[in-house]
Amino acid sequence: MAKVSMEKMSKRYDGADDYAVEDFNLEIDDHEFIVFVGPSGCGKTTTLRMIAGLEEITDGELYIDEDLMNDVEPKERDIAMVFQNYALYPHMTVFDNMAFGLKLRKVKKDSIKERVENAAELLGLTEFLDRKPAVLSGGQRQRVALGRAVVRNPKLFLMDEPLSNLDAKLRVKMRTEIAKLHEELGSTTIYVTHDQTEAMTLASRIVIMNDGVIQQVGAPYEVFNSPDNVFVASFIGSPAMNFYDVTYNNGKISDGKGLNLPVDEENRKYLDENGYEGQEIIFGIRPEHVHEYVEDSETPSDEAMPAKITVSELTGSDANLYLKVGDTEMTAIVDAQDYHEPGYEIEIMMDMNKVHFFDKETEEVIN
Ligand code: ATP
Repeated sequence: MAKVSMEKMSKRYDGADDYAVEDFNLEIDDHEFIVFVGPSGCGKTTTLRMIAGLEEITDGELYIDEDLMNDVEPKERDIAMVFQNYALYPHMTVFDNMAFGLKLRKVKKDSIKERVENAAELLGLTEFLDRKPAVLSGGQRQRVALGRAVVRNPKLFLMDEPLSNLDAKLRVKMRTEIAKLHEELGSTTIYVTHDQTEAMTLASRIVIMNDGVIQQVGAPYEVFNSPDNVFVASFIGSPAMNFYDVTYNNGKISDGKGLNLPVDEENRKYLDENGYEGQEIIFGIRPEHVHEYVEDSETPSDEAMPAKITVSELTGSDANLYLKVGDTEMTAIVDAQDYHEPGYEIEIMMDMNKVHFFDKETEEVIN
């Protein structure tokens, strides 16, 4: 088990004008399950490869426990990496694939047998130990790749999109298996994905990256509920958060196209104190916080807005409604029982205490 610490770690590939990863600062604790997410090309794999020692660090420092790793060979770092494409040896049995790294390290035969058998048991591979990878399913192959990492009992697991070659159902199953494995082994794990459900369900903390730069680090509920900027707010959550350019005046916001809303007291305080009166700001609300209006004593009816459904999707227990409020487009996630066909007109309301305001220029959250 290991702590990992990165101080202004940066990477510029030979001949490139820009940094692929810039000033990456992060302290990872023992046992943590850290997930790097972000759009394609944002630098997730480059960061992981620098930690593994497969890519040279251009500037900054990488420590594992208290030791500086910048110039330490990959095989001396006591790290196991699991890749997307499994990278199994086709001519070897499952047992030999799992044993391979241990043999290279001259581990004793008895100990290899014991470690492979234990890992196979943990991963439900016992009955496949004599088979070759070709006769295994995708999920089983990925389990062998995990097993090969597990037998080494490394300080640190690095996983680069390990589930992205699997079909949707198997992905969900393997996701839970990885969570279980982490629960049992407790090893510090760094996991790269562009799948935000994987990130939200597996991570103790998520690192959201864009253009080689960390945008926010936090527990899944933190990055979902308190995004630091527009990028994080739009990247996390599906369907994505609704955003509007609005003007703030006298405790109200308006987009001039149909949205006219009172701002709750707490947000008013932030906006007033920071001099946003009369200014244009970005208003964000998650689809989860837009509801069909029901008349009750708690919500004044003047907060209800007429909306027309343009597209509706039933997703199981929920429904996504794509709405027009005046000329303003909006997405709502409602209970499946509130599903309506396109063309239907409803009244909607918003949880005004769950909204987000961002500076128009910096796109940073206002608080
Ligand atoms: P993806 O989700 O598509 O795998 P990523 O977030 O892992 O993307 P990286 O693969 O780390 O992103 O790439 C970061 C940036 O570095 C990209 O602009 C990419 O084009 C560039 N890059 C990656 N590998 C190299 C390389 N070997 N030489 C030059 N540039 C590279």
